[in-house]
Amino acid sequence: MFPAQTEYHRPNSVTEAVDLLASNEGAKVLAGGHSLIPLMKLRLVAPTVLVDIGRIEALKGIEATDGGLSIGALTTQATIAASDLVNERAPLLAEAAGMVGDPAVRNRGTIGGNISHSDPASDLPAVLTALGATLKVTGKGGDRSVGASDFATGLLENILGEDEILTSVSVSSIPSGAGSAYVKFAHPASRYAVIGVAAIVGVSDGRCSSASVVVGGVETTPTRASSVESALLGSDLSDEALDKAAAAVAGDFQGDAMSDIFASAEYRQAVAAVYVRRALAAAVSRAG
Ligand SMILES: Cc1cc2nc3c(=O)[nH]c(=O)nc-3n(C[C@H](O)[C@H](O)[C@H](O)COP(=O)(O)OP(=O)(O)OC[C@H]3O[C@@H](n4cnc5c(N)ncnc54)[C@H](O)[C@@H]3O)c2cc1C
Repeated sequence: MFPAQTEYHRPNSVTEAVDLLASNEGAKVLAGGHSLIPLMKLRLVAPTVLVDIGRIEALKGIEATDGGLSIGALTTQATIAASDLVNERAPLLAEAAGMVGDPAVRNRGTIGGNISHSDPASDLPAVLTALGATLKVTGKGGDRSVGASDFATGLLENILGEDEILTSVSVSSIPSGAGSAYVKFAHPASRYAVIGVAAIVGVSDGRCSSASVVVGGVETTPTRASSVESALLGSDLSDEALDKAAAAVAGDFQGDAMSDIFASAEYRQAVAAVYVRRALAAAVSRAG
């Protein structure tokens, strides 16, 4: 299939890109193109104008910040997976980025595109929610910051305005002594996450001192597993405690689990509990 005819622009700055978006109704940002181009070829979307941000150098790269990291929206998943800085400060993000699709996808797909596409089967939204990341968005009205947990609003929907670009992602380092893990049940054909679980577990004197657990793939936006977190906090992190905490995830889904030809809603929720258990065990084994 060929995409519908579209005008193509390649701005050199964020200001120029925002101006193009603001002055062309139906315009869309093009980053790595791994999600947008297939949709255009299937004619599921037909932007009137493509604003290719791929040459905007200011949107690329990873920097250390006071207590964490700032990652430009155009940074590829392969760069994030291989970054020493990300592996040291937010190993959960490097681990998940290395599990996206295949090398071809990771070499083109960007962190900004992965989040902005707001696909429930993507890996990075759940991970960034678990990390408490902040997303910087730039539009005609200036800059604004949005918590990763508030970004997606539904299936392929998010808070971005028509003239807005996601420009960077800020992540705090995981607390010292905490362990983290991302585990996923990958779709056998695409490697997208049927279920993806991100867990960060703090351990002090043999007990759980902090917990952040988020499940992707079950509902249309990442699910914070607050019942799991509550069950973990203060526990001795024994096998029995982890079993009990993982089983509690059933109480975190709001009754609108997704269902498709590959996995029913019931199956997704049952598998989620298994993957939460695996993520907790891996995170605890890496703590300290
Ligand atoms: C075969 C295959 C397997 C895949 N497997 C996985 C997987 O296992 N896990 C996973 O998480 N993902 C997977 N993906 C998706 C992949 O990671 C995509 O690259 C990613 O979701 C989109 O990033 P992109 O840079 O290619 O964005 P594009 O395709 O260019 O854009 C995607 C959407 O985001 C918008 N957009 C892009 N950048 C910005 C920005 N900075 N600001 C505002 N809007 C923006 C675009 O307008 C478009 O709507 C897979 C893709 C393919 C083709």
